[in-house]
Amino acid sequence: MPAPVLGIDLGTTNCVVASMDRGRMTLLTDDMGQSLFPSVVTIGENDRIWTCREAVALGAAVPGRTAYAVKRLLGRWYDDEVVQRARNIYAYEIAKEPEGGGVLIKLGRHEYKPEQIAAQILKELRRQFERRFGTNPTEAVVTVPAYFNHTQREGTQRAAAEAGLEVLRLLNEPTAAALSLPESGTDEQIVAVYDFGGGTFDISIIRIQGRVYEVLATDGDTFLGGDDIDGLLCDELSREFYQATQVRLRNFPLSWYRLRDAAEKAKMELSHADHCSIYLPRLVGEESLVTEINRQRLETLARPLIERSLSICAQTLDAAGLTPVKLDQLVLVGGPTRMPMLRHMVQDFFQRSASPGVNPDTAVAEGAAREGAMLRQGSGALLLDVTPITLGINIAGNRLYPLIPRNTKIPVRKEHMFTTHRDAQTQARMVILQGDNPVASENTRLGEVILRNLRGYERFHSRIQVAFEIDANGILHVKAMDKDTGEERNCVIQDSFSPEGREVAGELPESESLAPAEERVGPTIAGPFRATELVDVLFFLHANRKTGRIELSSDGMSGTLWMIDGQITHAQTDYSKGLDAAGQLLDIGEGNYSFYESEHLGEPAEIDTPFEILVGHN
Ligand code: AMP
Repeated sequence: MPAPVLGIDLGTTNCVVASMDRGRMTLLTDDMGQSLFPSVVTIGENDRIWTCREAVALGAAVPGRTAYAVKRLLGRWYDDEVVQRARNIYAYEIAKEPEGGGVLIKLGRHEYKPEQIAAQILKELRRQFERRFGTNPTEAVVTVPAYFNHTQREGTQRAAAEAGLEVLRLLNEPTAAALSLPESGTDEQIVAVYDFGGGTFDISIIRIQGRVYEVLATDGDTFLGGDDIDGLLCDELSREFYQATQVRLRNFPLSWYRLRDAAEKAKMELSHADHCSIYLPRLVGEESLVTEINRQRLETLARPLIERSLSICAQTLDAAGLTPVKLDQLVLVGGPTRMPMLRHMVQDFFQRSASPGVNPDTAVAEGAAREGAMLRQGSGALLLDVTPITLGINIAGNRLYPLIPRNTKIPVRKEHMFTTHRDAQTQARMVILQGDNPVASENTRLGEVILRNLRGYERFHSRIQVAFEIDANGILHVKAMDKDTGEERNCVIQDSFSPEGREVAGELPESESLAPAEERVGPTIAGPFRATELVDVLFFLHANRKTGRIELSSDGMSGTLWMIDGQITHAQTDYSKGLDAAGQLLDIGEGNYSFYESEHLGEPAEIDTPFEILVGHN
């Protein structure tokens, strides 16, 4: 009998493992009967590695050698804002990977990548499963937050591989929660899955029809969860302690660790009690912390965080084109959804009660296990997921060319033809970007693909096809092909931490970038002008609500005006930007102009003044 496929909810704070065998759902529990396995790793004496509950127990003594909430660091750059925030609040040291710029976690004398820590936890879960059920599992369905990007998904897969687990599917957590609901027959249902976990928040709107699970929209925040509530409570308690003792607890890692632990316990207790007391004897030296905290005080702290989650819910419903009354079910997942105030606020927002019978801690793992069992039988649910973030490449003019817009159903393959934008261009460097900002350099860079040995034709004559494919696991494959030479380059987004990718961070390779092939046709309107004619052209563009850029040049000056819907939004000359530049260009006298019509402007709106006023002014 092969071991069942594990359903693993690899959480920021806790992991849960479920399996389904011949229709029976089983949860893995530890010796104490607990199904939550803390996502914690400690390096003890003699470099022995401790994991989960044992690591938590030991961690109190060696906080600097205890890694927790590592999921927040997985697949991120060291310079990432999330990592920098984590550096300030975590008790362990986070360093920069010398080659590549990823993250290293320092525990004692050792350095680990976040996925190596995650692998230790997964190994332990596998070991515990074998000990309890006598079979050695080698396959798993592992869940990830819906908005995890490609490097984060790759990191999760690498962690599983290092732990000896083949990932049959990476499943988005909200979809997994929906899969745990009893089957509804054929009736169509629209379900909102609100998942407020330890470290991350996720919301997904899912349409279920039989065994087809279609994500209509999804969003989230990687820095919003129960840990943040603990953090606020710690800040408040440490202020109180400072007022009484003049001692700053932040300077004492061990004391801070104890405080965090007590704050989390108090938060959990206040989900069913009105008040609780905190007593931490000899927290620093002889000073103890003794205080009482009531539910109302905790709620005042937590309210802004919950409101933040609800504003994300509003955007997500909007993206799905729905209002709360159109929903059939509300599923609450994640430990903090046990907080009465959170439940009230979320139920109020969605105008309905949460579905009963959903265990907020285990639903995700159970859904993953059910999917694992179905995949084993060769009949997994049909999951129609969406990509949570826009993906594209940089194009000339520091613009983003979106190949796969956010909320596009996956798996998906999109391709587009590009061309060189300079004469004799022999190299094309396509930076793979993630984000919605039309200004390319404002988005997250995932990696790059370089095509060398282009034929070096006159501009707009080369033909380069770029294809983006997102597979069922949400992993991006990029292919670029020089149609003139047949040369091809592929990239799976997993080496985005390579030094090469990092070298040019922030600055995009303008001289090697491409233009969309549709711009090859050249300017839509062009010609030499006399001063009075330019105004006519601008008026024509304005009246026809054109979007594009106008390149102007005369003997003394050259520059560009950008226009959206007939309004000038941005201007730049060799000497200035903004309103000044627009004034200079409109006063240019005689010269040449070309108007390029394009949807992809990629320039920030800097001029608020409507076009008519500029013409009038001229
Ligand atoms: P999860 O990521 O779903 O395992 O959720 C972990 C988070 O849930 C941690 O921040 C816990 O402190 C929090 N949590 C667990 N139980 C409760 C509870 N009864 N009340 C409030 N928060 C809880």
